[in-house]
Amino acid sequence: MRKLLFGLIILLLTPCIQGQKNIRVQLFAQKKITQLQFQSEQVCMFKSDTTTVTIAAKEICTVTKTDSCMNWKAGGKTGQCATFILLQPEGKVSLGVNGAKLSGYIHWGSFELIADKGSMYVVNILNLDTYVAGVVEAEGGANKPSEYYKVQAVLCRTYALNNFDRHPHSDLCDGTHCQVYHGLNRKDPRIEEAVKQTQKLVVIDENAHLITAFFHSNCGGHTLNSEMVWKAALPYCKGKPDPYCMGMPNSNWEKRIPIQDWTKYLETKKVNTADTLGITSFFPGKKVMYYQHNNIKIPTKTIRSDLKLKSAYFTVHLQNNEAVFIGQGFGHGVGLCQEGAMNMAKKGKTFEEILNFYYTNVHLVPYDMVWLFTHEEEEEN
Ligand SMILES: [Zn+2]
Ligand SMILES: [Zn+2]
Repeated sequence: MRKLLFGLIILLLTPCIQGQKNIRVQLFAQKKITQLQFQSEQVCMFKSDTTTVTIAAKEICTVTKTDSCMNWKAGGKTGQCATFILLQPEGKVSLGVNGAKLSGYIHWGSFELIADKGSMYVVNILNLDTYVAGVVEAEGGANKPSEYYKVQAVLCRTYALNNFDRHPHSDLCDGTHCQVYHGLNRKDPRIEEAVKQTQKLVVIDENAHLITAFFHSNCGGHTLNSEMVWKAALPYCKGKPDPYCMGMPNSNWEKRIPIQDWTKYLETKKVNTADTLGITSFFPGKKVMYYQHNNIKIPTKTIRSDLKLKSAYFTVHLQNNEAVFIGQGFGHGVGLCQEGAMNMAKKGKTFEEILNFYYTNVHLVPYDMVWLFTHEEEEEN
């Protein structure tokens, strides 16, 4: 009944959901910015606190941070301001920071430069889907199957909308803290097509909340419940066997370290290494979460992080003065397994099938209709 009702509502409202949402992205967030240069392909305008100026096409303009505000040089004029707004130019914009030449990254949309204490914030205000295509390229890479790009587009959009207002002057930053964004997608036109074909779609859980879309490179053949890695038990992150990621680049790994390093490490965890049996015989069954010797238990995720292993799913044995770790998978193992998802796409599965395989009891809905689902839930309760 719910499916029927929901389908009907989508049909009735489809013509009303054409508007596009904007997002504010802080660019160069990893850097302390003291100077920004920009160049627009077309004639454009900027507004500062007191002035509006026209800038010629291809003119290189400079904004420099001072102790209290910013100095600008543009349109043959100079001035000072606390906020500098480059109104949405018709064409693309190249940016360069801190004296570096204008970079190859191409941007689009409006820009706000804000002086705040010792820093200058560069905020790009752009269409959500333009941003999503840029992130899918930066995080997903080129030459992937189209259905996989659609999966990435839906997850990226879900993450963005679930994390609006994460920063003081912007919604998200362009670094790994949020989602990596290097400007417009340029390498693969199929990415833009994937974004278009999944327009507005986000993933919600059974309570109509946007999901926290955890993903990792390769689960090693079995995904994990979220509470096995972190504290929160998310109903849509349930561990299950994954037959799709075996034989992929990150399904198996090996790391060797000197025996002394392994012994020293175990001693810091209070393991009695005089009893060498303990350090040579760790062959856990699938998804054992602790390395155990007598009454000492060390979470395998702690060993993973301390020894920089690719995953927390491994065996260890000693050979020629080395401790040999043989493991499966790459990453935390919760949510979507990227290499498995890629393989599913290659085998002809759709993005809906892939998302429903890795997340339990989830729905795909346009973001501006999530409230309808919430309303329906409330009426039912
Ligand atoms: Zn961030
Ligand atoms: Zn997997």
